[in-house]
This record gives sequence, C-alpha cells and structure tokens, in this order.
Amino acid sequence: MSIVDQLQRQHLKQLTPYASARRSMSGGNIWLNANESPYCNSYSVDDGKLNRYPEFQSQPLNQAYADYAGVKASQVLSSRGSDEGIELLIRAFCEPAADKVLICPPTYGMYAISAKTFAVGVTEVPLVNNGQLDTESVIEASAECKVIFLCSPSNPLGNALNTDDIEQVLQHSPRSIVVVDEAYIEFSSGNSVANWLERYPNLVVLRTLSKAFALAGIRCGFLLANDDIIELLQKVLAPYPLPDPTVQIAIQALQPSSLKRLQQQVTTLLTERERLQSALQQTPLKLVSESETNFLLYQCEDAAALVAALAGNGLLIRNQSAQRGLYNVVRITIGSATENDELIQQLRDYFL
Ligand SMILES: *Cc1c(COP(=O)(O)O)cnc(C)c1O
Repeated sequence: MSIVDQLQRQHLKQLTPYASARRSMSGGNIWLNANESPYCNSYSVDDGKLNRYPEFQSQPLNQAYADYAGVKASQVLSSRGSDEGIELLIRAFCEPAADKVLICPPTYGMYAISAKTFAVGVTEVPLVNNGQLDTESVIEASAECKVIFLCSPSNPLGNALNTDDIEQVLQHSPRSIVVVDEAYIEFSSGNSVANWLERYPNLVVLRTLSKAFALAGIRCGFLLANDDIIELLQKVLAPYPLPDPTVQIAIQALQPSSLKRLQQQVTTLLTERERLQSALQQTPLKLVSESETNFLLYQCEDAAALVAALAGNGLLIRNQSAQRGLYNVVRITIGSATENDELIQQLRDYFL
C-alpha cells in the first residue's frame, strides 16, 4: 500500500474532482465550453508593490463592488473566484460527517464537490417545471440542511428562478443559509436579490468577474451577505486571498468607463445569442430552455459524438450529459460573431 493509500482521508477515496472545462478538454482554437467572455479587455498593472503582501480585504475594491451591486461595503467579501465563496460557506457552517447542504439539480457542480471534499452530505431536491424550484420540497428538506444552494440564472439550464419562490425559501427556511449564485446576473432580464439583504439575515449572494466582466483569468469573486456572516467567513479565509494584480485589475473593471464597456459587450452578446439561436433552428438541435445567460443548452441525438466531431475541428463545446435529466445535452457558450459563424457553419456541415 502506498503512503497515500494508507494515510488519505477515507471520504476522499470516492471523490471525483470537478471536471472543469479547462481540465477536461485541451487544445482547440475556439473555446465555447466554459462560459467565458470572448472579449479580452486591456488593463494596466502597477508593479511597484509586488514585494509586499496584499491586503486581507481591499477596501477600495469592496467599496467599488458594493457601489456596483447596491449594497454596503461591509456586506462584501472578495474571494478567489466565487468558487472560494462556496467553499468558505461550507467550511464555516457545516460540521464534517454530520451536516448537509441542499442542491437543486441540474445545477453547478462545485456545490456538491466542495461539500464532499469536507465530508459534508448533499441532499438533492431536483428542479421541476422547466427548471423551477420545487419550493415545498426544498423547504421541507431544509430542516436538515444548513446551507441551500440556488443558482439563478441557472448553470446549466440558463433560465432564471422565480424570485417569489426564492423568497418563499428564505422565509420558510430561516434556520438555513440560502445562497443565491448570480454568476450570470448581468445577462439576465430579471432582478438580483442582493437588495434583500436588509430583510433576510440568512441570505447570501454569490457574484463573479469571470463571466460578463470577462476576467476569468484573474480569479475574483464576491460574496454578499450581512455583516455577521461576512465576519464569520473572514475567520476561515486565507490571510492574503487575492493577489495584488487581481485587486488592481478588478478595481479598474468597476470604474464607470469599464462598466459602460461591460454593458455594450453584454448587449452584443445577447444579440449574438439571438442570432445563434435562430440559426440553430435550421438544425436538428432542440433548445432545452430559454436562456438568461451567455450560453445555450441543446439536446441532440448523440452528444458525445457531436462534441468530439467539433473538437476534431478545433471547436470546443461542453457535454452536459452527466447531469440529471440532461442526457445527450450540450452547452454552447456565446462567442464572438466570428466564432459563432464558425460554429454555425460546422453544425450545418455536421448535420448535412
Ligand atoms: C462560472 C461559475 C461560477 C464560478 O465562478 P468563479 O468566480 O470563476 O469561481 C460559480 N457559479 C456558477 C453558476 C458558475 O457558472
């Protein structure tokens, strides 16, 4: 027996790590598999303090994001992507081998993987009626779950949850932390629930700069919650979580001129999404759900074959078939106009 087999924690033996888009597929020249932005915007970095440790939390950054999100700076925690926010919540609230989190599949994979990494149980209450909450069942199951993860707009479905249902869960699960992951909120026609923080002490909102802000490479996310939750999470946060260049770029991305550019880029991507959606109506692909995000979800006859054929031509899309209820379903990120043209052409050729 190897030293690792002898010593590793028992629950990790069965754990399959998250198959991120970047880890599961390599190569290619058109990347439509990770919901990244096709835009690569320029920023400047001052290297005058790289010999110094960064701040634990940058006040200018938290203030800039608070202004953007319409909350107070004391209600903001910045983290290494919102993935770190997910992990902090589990580490701060859930006892290993005792507590549980609640997820509503199909949903973002990291909630369950983060929980399992810390030997925390996962209760599943599947979405119903085209991707909406089974509110009654969520509330019932919440009695035994410390943290409830809701994703709106949804990855992978793309639709937004009814805010009335989210409010029901907040009201009737007062002894659970209710996390609303708004990674795609900038693409949505619906409203954020961030302005409900005053009303609900159990609400947490997750945000990220990785999607509409086109900054997946700097790893910057935000967790919005009331002060007492933020203070608890700071106890388990690493001493120097965000690299200084990340903080500098994030602050620039939140300046008014950058936010104006963000708006224009989002508008273009939404127009491209409509164009792609109508072009794909001429193919056998079946749209699974209306999208409030920068991606579209399609059912086909053989998802693995389609993903492999496109990858063979350098174009990467994501197979979602492992998700509950999404057999032979693929997820396509909206790219630049040129990338979308290439995708449309390749799909026409494929289905010819
Ligand atoms: C992409 C994504 C995240 C992770 O974002 P990072 O900030 O890059 O860690 C979180 N939640 C959902 C639903 C996502 O799609």
